[in-house]
Amino acid sequence: MPSPTRARFLIPLLALLLVSGAATARAQQSPPPTQSTPAQSQPVRPAPAYNLPPAILAKAITLTRLRAILAFGGTAWTILVLLLVLAGRWPVALRDWAERITPGKWLQGLLFLPPAIVFLTVVSLPFDIYSQHIERAYGLSVQSWPSWTLDQLKALGLSIVIGTLLLQVLFRVIRVSPRKWWLWFWLCTLPILVFAVFISPIWIDPIFNHFSPLQKSNPALTAQLEQLAQHAGLDIPPQRMFLMKASEKVTGENAYVTGIGATTRIVVWDNTIRKLPPDEILFVVGHEMGHYVLRHIYKGLAFTALVLVVLLWLAYVCVGWLIRRTQPSWQIRSMDDWAALAVLLLVFTVFGFLASPITNSFSRWEEHQADVFGQEAIHGLVPDPQVTAQKAFVALGSDYLEAPNPNPLIEFWLYSHPSISERAKFAAHYDPWLPGRHPRYFRK
Ligand SMILES: [Zn+2]
Repeated sequence: MPSPTRARFLIPLLALLLVSGAATARAQQSPPPTQSTPAQSQPVRPAPAYNLPPAILAKAITLTRLRAILAFGGTAWTILVLLLVLAGRWPVALRDWAERITPGKWLQGLLFLPPAIVFLTVVSLPFDIYSQHIERAYGLSVQSWPSWTLDQLKALGLSIVIGTLLLQVLFRVIRVSPRKWWLWFWLCTLPILVFAVFISPIWIDPIFNHFSPLQKSNPALTAQLEQLAQHAGLDIPPQRMFLMKASEKVTGENAYVTGIGATTRIVVWDNTIRKLPPDEILFVVGHEMGHYVLRHIYKGLAFTALVLVVLLWLAYVCVGWLIRRTQPSWQIRSMDDWAALAVLLLVFTVFGFLASPITNSFSRWEEHQADVFGQEAIHGLVPDPQVTAQKAFVALGSDYLEAPNPNPLIEFWLYSHPSISERAKFAAHYDPWLPGRHPRYFRK
């Protein structure tokens, strides 16, 4: 539910590759100075819905600052490296080597693309290592370096296989239709995107984490969740609820909805069950049920497709222009030159970064809806939904070391969820069962 690094729905794997290192990581900035003690004569301000004890607050402020630096710095680093690489004509050298070995385009792709993908991974490695170092130093990760390295290698293997295939398709489409490739490739990515979301929970996620039916390990909780689903008038069978063994790697709590059609499921991390009291677990799962019922996966897919077509069209316009302008120095022949991949990556990184506020605003809107849904869903099942939801946010925020009152601009640009302060404040004040008010998703 707070989803620290994991996107709830897969963005197209290509975009994922291209925009890797861009500002999808969450970050926060330091809160304004703490309020001074109010003078006797002034009215006492109510306590904020989310706050941290001083010792944790200092850590949270430093950590959120680091997260923002890493997010923005990672993008700047990627852009800088791509410009240097282009100026040094490395892509052209790699292309020449591939073309000397074989005239076949498909074989050339197999020679050019995997080294390019490995290079990109190596470039972002310092940032990845530093991020993991910080997560361990602040107690958010308990994953050993060998285990972390293994995960990176698995991710790299997936990127090489999927990235090479997708980019082969892209360059084939560019060769066939130099003017309309952005449209045809976009049409190609739509079924791939849906397929990726479909297979992700059954083929991709188990490569990195262990999943088991929630019913098997936590029958009492499953029964409670079934009651919650019934109460909310939903059809979510227990077979669609899974437990993820997150405690091997991280200390935070989380839950999420994933998959499409027959693979749709709610996943709860074991940390969530171990650390939160039952009422708060109900709220967290209620939030996830909101994503499920409000069809956020489908809406997310549609939105991603919309953003992607705009990005591809912009790439078509800008990459062509850049190649023509830089011909004497970068020596890229045309759009269907393998070396044009570096220009494509450059353009995608820049536009992906500029699009982050738009995609994150959409995500925050969905997350807020799920918060409302979760709080309404537990009405009648817990003594006080407002207190339960607010307490859950406080627990999540302090476990993830979220500084209260993040910088609004950073929140606008980087946050996939509203800030914990905002969510806790909303929860504390949201009571649609008061006379004259109406719940948004549930009847009185
Ligand atoms: Zn959510």
